[in-house]
Amino acid sequence: MAPPDTRRTPLADKIARLIRTTGPITVADYFDLCLSDPEHGYYRTRDPFGQAGDFITAPEITQLFGEMIGLFLVDIWRRQGLRRPVRLVEIGPGRGTLMRDVLRVVVKLAPEMTSALTVHLVETSAPLTEAQRSTLAASGTSCEWHATIDEVPQGYTLLVANEFFDALPVHQFVKALGAFRERVVALDDEDALTFIPGPATADPALLPADADAQPDGTIFEIAPAREAVMRAIAGRMATNGGAAVIVDYGHLVTGYGDTLQAVKGHRFDDPLAHPGEADLTSHVDFEALACAARTAGAHVAALMAQGDFLVSLGLLERAGRFGAGKSEAEQEAIRVAVERIAGVGAGNMGELFKVMVVTGRSDTSPAARTD
Ligand code: SAH
Repeated sequence: MAPPDTRRTPLADKIARLIRTTGPITVADYFDLCLSDPEHGYYRTRDPFGQAGDFITAPEITQLFGEMIGLFLVDIWRRQGLRRPVRLVEIGPGRGTLMRDVLRVVVKLAPEMTSALTVHLVETSAPLTEAQRSTLAASGTSCEWHATIDEVPQGYTLLVANEFFDALPVHQFVKALGAFRERVVALDDEDALTFIPGPATADPALLPADADAQPDGTIFEIAPAREAVMRAIAGRMATNGGAAVIVDYGHLVTGYGDTLQAVKGHRFDDPLAHPGEADLTSHVDFEALACAARTAGAHVAALMAQGDFLVSLGLLERAGRFGAGKSEAEQEAIRVAVERIAGVGAGNMGELFKVMVVTGRSDTSPAARTD
């Protein structure tokens, strides 16, 4: 095994200088610097996906993932009354693979929807925008890029976001001496980055009802940046109609725990070890997102495990047809990929990942009538 990489990254030096000058920084500010520092931020400098990268996402594992999302969007467009024009929006599109697979299905199954479409990609990373351009060049659909969701023209909207919300900063509060204090990144005696409880205490209104009963050391996370994007999406749904499919790893119910995680070279890393060179994320609190969506006037039409969502859309049947006539090795590869995106247990995404569907209040869909 290679010896541990103990080098200090250029961003770690920059953060250490910042802390020396102005004091410890919140976990949310640290998170934001790690991913978005203009000079050294993780997403500003690299394409992180694939075998040679740091992690792999469902659309990069198999085209079946994007095809299922495409099927779902065609279906919901029909149920919502064949609205025109359609803004097809993706936030955080990575390499553009999911949008490519969605478009292939839409073009094949619904020419009448295809002719009503404009495609909008919301992305902040220059290297990934280039990757998306080249992936989507052959799609035959013209695409526009935007820095934020608010720049996407109004109108009936079908939106997808896969592993986007986990990349937006989270604040952590740690219980110390009886109060939940904002966790900050400071420098220890050896000048290394370290987490400590900061002076600010959490507004009790932000904490769960049983916060007083929690022992010292308990961590609670909140993500106003995620809720703000959710409100913007939900506001669009409420005003213009449409559906948003949000997919990410996380929990259905708000809870306690430290879910901050760094991943580098397909392994978990210490979140403070390689700022700017490791992906930094945390689990998504879907209860908080659902609450933000409802507050903005939208309807949470579905919230379930990714495996259940994909299987209910016919993933297994589609995988069978996709494998028919292929070699045994190819069929095995499809089986492994399906297990990875929809299976349960360690290493699989089916249970850990959740899917939330948000629609406008008046939009009709069978799911929308049940809540
Ligand atoms: N959806 C893709 C990529 C997930 S990685 C997939 O499933 O493969 C997260 C994506 O969100 C990247 O494309 C990253 O550049 C983008 N991103 C991160 N922060 C963003 C922000 N604030 N606004 C828009 N995109 C952002």
